Amino acid sequence: MTQSKPRQVTCPSCKKQSEYSAENPFRPFCSERCRLIDLGGWASESYRVPVENDPFDESVPPHLS
Ligand SMILES: [Zn+2]
Repeated sequence: MTQSKPRQVTCPSCKKQSEYSAENPFRPFCSERCRLIDLGGWASESYRVPVENDPFDESVPPHLS
């Protein structure tokens, strides 16, 4: 039987390395806290990055050549 290193993944919430294994029920998150933070973030759409100075302003249609 070979011993394999537990796979490490980056926690999507806090960016820490967490263990991706059956030992970690919150994978790919490092903890329940991070998992809840991430789910809450998506639910409230706080993950959305506000668009600033969008060069492709839809109110200005591109010129047709
Ligand atoms: Zn985390």
